[in-house]
Amino acid sequence: MTQINEVRPVKHRLPFIALALALSAPALAKPLPVPSVTPVALSQPGLEEMVRTLSSDAFEGRAPSTAGEDKTVAYLIDRFKAAGLQPGNRGSWTQDVPTVEITAQNVAGLAVTGGKQTMLFAPGKDFVAGSYRVTASTDIRDAELVFVGYGINAPELGWNDYAGIDMKGKIAVILVNDPDYETASEQGLFKGRRMTWYGRWPYKFEEAARQGAAGALIVHDTFPAAYGWNVVESSWGGAQYFVQKPNDAMDQTQANGWVQNDVAKQILAAAGQDLTALSAAAKQKGFKPVPLGLKASLKFDNQIRKGQSRNVIGILPGKKRPDEYVLYTAHWDHLGRCKADAQGDDVCNGAVDNATGTALLASLAQANVKAGAADRSQVFLAVTLEESGLLGSEFYAQNPVYPLNRTVGGVNMDAIAPGSPARDVQVTGGDKSELTRYLKAAMGAMKLYETPEDHVERGHYYRSDHFSMAKRGVPMFAVGRGSDWVPGGKAAAEAVAGKYVKNDYHQPSDQFDGKWDWSGILQEGELYYRLGRSLAMTADWPNWHPGDEFRAIRDQSRAELRKAGK
Ligand SMILES: [Zn+2]
Repeated sequence: MTQINEVRPVKHRLPFIALALALSAPALAKPLPVPSVTPVALSQPGLEEMVRTLSSDAFEGRAPSTAGEDKTVAYLIDRFKAAGLQPGNRGSWTQDVPTVEITAQNVAGLAVTGGKQTMLFAPGKDFVAGSYRVTASTDIRDAELVFVGYGINAPELGWNDYAGIDMKGKIAVILVNDPDYETASEQGLFKGRRMTWYGRWPYKFEEAARQGAAGALIVHDTFPAAYGWNVVESSWGGAQYFVQKPNDAMDQTQANGWVQNDVAKQILAAAGQDLTALSAAAKQKGFKPVPLGLKASLKFDNQIRKGQSRNVIGILPGKKRPDEYVLYTAHWDHLGRCKADAQGDDVCNGAVDNATGTALLASLAQANVKAGAADRSQVFLAVTLEESGLLGSEFYAQNPVYPLNRTVGGVNMDAIAPGSPARDVQVTGGDKSELTRYLKAAMGAMKLYETPEDHVERGHYYRSDHFSMAKRGVPMFAVGRGSDWVPGGKAAAEAVAGKYVKNDYHQPSDQFDGKWDWSGILQEGELYYRLGRSLAMTADWPNWHPGDEFRAIRDQSRAELRKAGK
C-alpha cells in the first residue's frame, strides 16, 4: 500500500475493509453470459512458504534498487517458472523501470503583481511548488493568472472549465475536488460526494498540462481535500518520484503546486474577485474561466536523481485468442530498512503489505496452469515501486508489453489480511463498469453479498496499482473480501484491521507468523481466480458504463484497434 508521494489524511484503508457496489448496470444489448468457473484449490503450504520467504529478514524488506530487490526478483522468476509460466516480456522475465526523483530546492517566494501592490508569499508556509519536468531549474516570470474553477475538462459530461481560453504561458488557479462534492448523496454529474478522477489533484495537474499551461496551483481547503495544509507541506517538501520518460516530461507544466486558502483569497481580492463567489460560480455548468489580470513568478532549482527497478512478468498464453490478455497485478516492493522498533529491528518486512498479494499472484499462476490454458492469455505482473507512488504499474501502463486495447481487464491484489473468510465482498469505486457482471457471478457461486464502500469521498479507487491501467481505459477490479467474517462478524474483522493499522502498517512488525489463519486469504484467492478465469474464458469486452470517466479513452483505443484492422 502506498504512502510516499501521496497526500493522504489517513493510513491507506485495508482493501478487505473497503468498498461498494452500487445498483444495476444500465440496460445494454444482450451481453454474453459469464462463463462458469470451476475453482482450482490454491496450495496453502505453497502460499505460506512464499510469504515466509518474501518477508524474511534475508529479503531486507524488498526495497527497490537494493540487494533485497535482486533476491525478490530472482525468487519471483523462480516461482513463475515453477508455476509453468513463460517469460512475459519478449523472452525476458523482467521489465526495466527507470525512475527519476525530483526535489525542488532554493524555492523563491511566489510573487504576484498587477494589484495595488506586489504580493510575496513564502514557500512552505503559504505555498508549495515543484516540477514534473526533468530540468535543472524552473523559472516562470510574469505569467498571467487564470481562475479555472475545478480545472475539469470532461467532454462526456459536457463540462469544460477551460472553455474558450488559451492557457499557453499562463498559470491555472484550481479548486480542489469536483463541483458536487458537497452533495449528501452520490447523485450528480460528478457522482455527488463520491470522489471522481476529476476531483483528484493529480488529474488537475495533468489537465493543466494538456491545456498547455505554464503552471498550475491548487487552492487548498481542508474539508474537500480531507487533509490539512501540514500534509500538503510535508508531502511536497521532499523528493517527488516519477518514471522516466523519453521527453523528460516536457509535456508537463513547468511548475505545479498548492496555495493556502487564505493566500488564494488574497490573490483573488487583489484581482477584485471573491473566492467564495467564484467557487459558487464554478459549481455551475457553463462556468467560464476568469482571467485575473494579475501576473505571478515562480523560481526554484531541481535536484535530479535517476534510479532503476524492475517489474516481473510471466504469461500463460491463451489457446483460442492468445492476442487478448487478462491481467493479474500485485506489487512486490516494500519499504526496506526503516525506523527501528524498540527491539532494534529495522527491517520493514511487509508480510501482509504485500508479500500476501505477491504470493497469491504466483499461486494463481500455478492454479491456472493446472486448469489448462484459458482461451485468452493471462499475464501475471509483479510491479515495483508501488510504495513510491504506483510507479511500476504506471511505467507498465505507459510502456505496455501487451497493448492496452488488447487487454480485456484485470485484478489487482494488495495487502490481503490473514484471518477468517467473510460473508461479503467489498468493491472499491462502486459500479463503474460491466466487470460488475463478472463479480456478481463469482459472488453468486461463492454465496457472498456486497457491502457498500465506506468513505466514498476519499477516492480509494484512484490510489492503487489497478488505477494505472484504469486511467488508460482498461477496466480493472479493485475488490477484496469484506468485513463480515465467519466466525466473529464485523467485530472480528475490525479487531484484526484495527490492530494492523495501529501497530503493523509500514512497521517492522508487519511480519509473517506461523500461527496465521489462512482461510480468508484462500477465500480471497478463490474470488480472484474466478474473476480472472471468467474474463479469460469469454469473448466479451466489458466496458466502462456510459458517462464513466474512463469510457471515452477505452472507446477511442478500441476504435484505433478496429481502424488498424486488427
Ligand atoms: Zn504499503
